[in-house]
Amino acid sequence: KLEEDANGVDSASSRISFQNESKWDDHSSYGAKKTQQAWCRLSTGNWALGKVLSTSGSESVLSTSEGKVLKVSTESLLPANPEILNGVDDLMQLSYLHEPSVLYNLQYRYDQDIIYTKAGPVLVAINPFKKVRLYGNDFIEGYKRQKMDKPHVYAIADAAIREMKRDEVNQSIIISGESGAGKTETAKIAMQYLASLGGGSGIEYEILQTNPILEAFGNAKTARNNNSSRFGKLIEIHFGATGRISGAAIQTFLLEKSRVVQCADGERSYHIFYQLCAGAPRSLREKLNLRKAEFYKYLNQSSCRSIAGVDDSEMFFAVMEAMNVVHISKEDQDTVFAMLAAVLWLGNISFKVIDNENHITVVSDEGAQTVAKLLGCTFDSLNMALSTRKMTVRNEKIVQKLTLEQAMDTRDALAKSIYASLFEWIVEQINMSLGAGKRRTGRSISILDIYGFESFTRNSFEQFCINYANERLQQHFNRHLFKLEQEEYIEDGIDWAKVDFEDNQDCLNLFEKKPLGLLSLLDEESTFPNATDLTFATKLKQHLDSNPCFKGERGKAFTVSHYAGEVMYNTTGFLEKNRDLLHVDLIQLLASCTCNLPQIFAAKMLVQSDDYPSGPARLSGADSQKLSVTTKFKGQLFQLMQRLESTTPHFIRCIKPNSLQQPGIYGQELVLSQLKCCGVLEVVRISRSGYPTRMTHQKFARRYGFLLLESVASQDPLSVSVAILQQFNILPDMYQVGYTKLFFRTGQIGLLEDTRNRTL
Ligand code: ADP
Ligand code: MG
Repeated sequence: KLEEDANGVDSASSRISFQNESKWDDHSSYGAKKTQQAWCRLSTGNWALGKVLSTSGSESVLSTSEGKVLKVSTESLLPANPEILNGVDDLMQLSYLHEPSVLYNLQYRYDQDIIYTKAGPVLVAINPFKKVRLYGNDFIEGYKRQKMDKPHVYAIADAAIREMKRDEVNQSIIISGESGAGKTETAKIAMQYLASLGGGSGIEYEILQTNPILEAFGNAKTARNNNSSRFGKLIEIHFGATGRISGAAIQTFLLEKSRVVQCADGERSYHIFYQLCAGAPRSLREKLNLRKAEFYKYLNQSSCRSIAGVDDSEMFFAVMEAMNVVHISKEDQDTVFAMLAAVLWLGNISFKVIDNENHITVVSDEGAQTVAKLLGCTFDSLNMALSTRKMTVRNEKIVQKLTLEQAMDTRDALAKSIYASLFEWIVEQINMSLGAGKRRTGRSISILDIYGFESFTRNSFEQFCINYANERLQQHFNRHLFKLEQEEYIEDGIDWAKVDFEDNQDCLNLFEKKPLGLLSLLDEESTFPNATDLTFATKLKQHLDSNPCFKGERGKAFTVSHYAGEVMYNTTGFLEKNRDLLHVDLIQLLASCTCNLPQIFAAKMLVQSDDYPSGPARLSGADSQKLSVTTKFKGQLFQLMQRLESTTPHFIRCIKPNSLQQPGIYGQELVLSQLKCCGVLEVVRISRSGYPTRMTHQKFARRYGFLLLESVASQDPLSVSVAILQQFNILPDMYQVGYTKLFFRTGQIGLLEDTRNRTL
């Protein structure tokens, strides 16, 4: 009987906070009490902590910690957590959960160089932008022996190892965040921990040495990050039966090719170009006819050629050394450097207009001669490939002369595809060395370091792909954390108010639906020879305007409502980037080269003129020759998701505290927007809105029964428990009474414990 009553009381009041429009706890009942600490929002948008001096009706007077006295509306005040909760390890422990309390807690820790905080099951990492004393062998040992338990990447990696062994399930560590938030560093820290398990024959060292190589070829200085990864990466580390590392495999996603031929002012192209120019030893310089970086057009279009605190020539030696470690032969290394030099010299090729229709021919100067020499072709064949295009029109072979603009595009296309193939080839070599192709018997831990959501003033094809990938990852995150959590409660028979987490299936449908989704329509339009970016934009508007996640914009633009916010995309270049074609003339040129290039392109060179008697062909692998970039990317992404689905995921959300890449600056607004974007706040809210603390009626009655002021008529544990709850004014939405147990929200037991300790 009592149980029913208790449950009755309970269920009536237990579903307050989540159905509230605000995603936060409901504080509407908060009456500002004198001398109570509270948060109020300043006109700057920042939050300030203060003491409530007085409250009269709708107005309160607050004295802030900086000594200012403010008159604010009582309604806008949010209660502050007691000081004892300052800087808790897990945001879930906060008694009051709202924007300022979360921001303050993270900042409180950040100010002491404690950059890691748990948000329920997720690790939040705030970029310190300086060396912090949190890493190295002592720490690794501490976490291994479980002597340390503070939130840390090491703790996540350790949990992954333990769960892999315990459950015999593959694990994944999924790292996300904006550019510059610290994903790549975090991935390296996790790798460092895993590598400490050792493997024998230096495999763990080899795995770590892949980082300087991939960063040299795939990272660049951008406005947001001096060492920005321009590709996504999944590294799968394999473990043998004995729990030691047996090998690894790396998969890369969507390298930003356009950076090879153009980059914004203040940014750089890929590090390796500057490293080569600065660090190549004399014999290599002479062989490749190398100059300083500023001599090359592809590198000097931006005024930025060096990075503060980075010695490119030193890095060059580190990269060469790392290539040795992963068994890339000296000869192959020389080929790689020659191809890099060829790309640089390609940019210096110039054209001479030869008629009044703007047709051109390649100028036979040092640039063109050096390219021909490095590639191992004649000047004439290079000139032909860059200034003409063979076509078949009505069964008749003709040679079309290219205009200046077409020729420059052709030259850049050649440079981009040489570089992209080189990158792929290097990854292949690394994988061979790591034994990626070998049959595996054990388990694995994968680390995913993939570009976060991007929203700029101008968003193009690259952002389109990146944000699509992030929608997919976000769904994985949602599904895992929210759905699983919720299902567990329902199974336990606990009255768990349904939580509507933000489901992004609608947005994914907008991308993936066939035939009328963004990707299908893009592919379809990409196959029409006469289509333009404008016809593509018009087509989208025609078919998708009724989709709530889509908005057609004026001209060539459209907007997508992503989970992380609206992004307007400009379709300029979409079709061409999606097609990613290389004309057959260039393929033939590359195939005829006597340098080692054809080896590098080996598999890719199968696309021969027989397949494409006329018109464009692709140079991106025989099996994928007919696939567009987005189709290939989508395939990769599906494969990735499938792989991740079969693992136990561990999530790390990296946060960038300021856009200046400076230590000690914590921008509340910036941090908040990222916390919202990656769903951290939701996770805390949901995890916390559950009842993580549980105790049987018996144990509870035994532990706290003696605190009762009045004896309870019935002595059964349940009645005693309910009496205790009432005496201590534990709010009804802070607990639930189950059949055998009491379920408490975070922090509640702490209050009772305090009273108990004081009384004892
Ligand atoms: P992302 O991969 O998210 O774009 P990075 O991992 O490249 O960002 O980090 C950007 C920069 O921030 C790094 O080059 C480094 O200077 C700094 N950084 C990131 N994480 C840490 C860390 N844990 N300790 C010290 N510096 C860091
Ligand atoms: Mg990175």
